[in-house]
Amino acid sequence: MSKYCPYTLIQIAAVSLKQVSLRSSWSKLITTSLTICFLSTFLAVFVLCQSSEAAPLTSFTAPMTTLAQTTSDSEAVPSQPFATPSQSLAASPLPFDARLVDIRSINTKIALDIRYATTNNFLKGKVYPVARCVLRGAAARRLSQVQDDLAKSGLGLKVYDCYRPLSVQKQMWQIKPDPRYVANPAKGSRHNRGAAVDITLVDRNGKELEMPTGFDDFTEKAHRTYKGASTQAKKNSKQLEDAMKKYGFIPLATEWWHFDAPGWDKFSILDVGFGEIPS
Ligand SMILES: [Zn+2]
Repeated sequence: MSKYCPYTLIQIAAVSLKQVSLRSSWSKLITTSLTICFLSTFLAVFVLCQSSEAAPLTSFTAPMTTLAQTTSDSEAVPSQPFATPSQSLAASPLPFDARLVDIRSINTKIALDIRYATTNNFLKGKVYPVARCVLRGAAARRLSQVQDDLAKSGLGLKVYDCYRPLSVQKQMWQIKPDPRYVANPAKGSRHNRGAAVDITLVDRNGKELEMPTGFDDFTEKAHRTYKGASTQAKKNSKQLEDAMKKYGFIPLATEWWHFDAPGWDKFSILDVGFGEIPS
């Protein structure tokens, strides 16, 4: 009906008007009324037909289906197809503090040595596709303040690890399923929340300061209470701890390099890939 209905109605209107016109003159008023009536009906039906032709039901359903498919790897069925992780967590609608941001977009002075993007780590394997330090905006801003503060003393920060996608946590657990070394992905790590950082100090030439152990040394030598380290290493570790605590970071007792951002528990565990996060 949709394609031919305007023309069918035109024919009906024409025949009716012709019949009416053959009658006597006293019926001219009725003729005029009928003409107006037919034209109004025709216009109304014509508009309806055009609307149904221009916007068939499939044109509304297709984009929704496409968007739903793009998020099919998510465990939950997306009730709101537009709220994909990359859009909701890394893009502008979220407040800055909760957004995942690249530390280099905040402070270019912070040095990077992202160990899990290399084979120079306790796993002896590269589990990050790129060497990036991504943090929640609130944590990134604080870390930038620490860097600026240390720069006044000719020192700087070098980060080993920041945000870690949950899928990488699972991968690490597969390689090393030992809670002494890797957080069980069933619980998640604070790194998975984008609210933890592994970090050390460097001098003005970018050289690492002496610390009690190397990164990811999972022995008691890395504990903050360990007394056996050199005087200089203990002093440097304490200086890092003091600098971080000044801006609210919380030191982990068993790893001199690990700090949690204040309010870390308010941020959820994420599995947003590095490729989805703006640089
Ligand atoms: Zn850590």
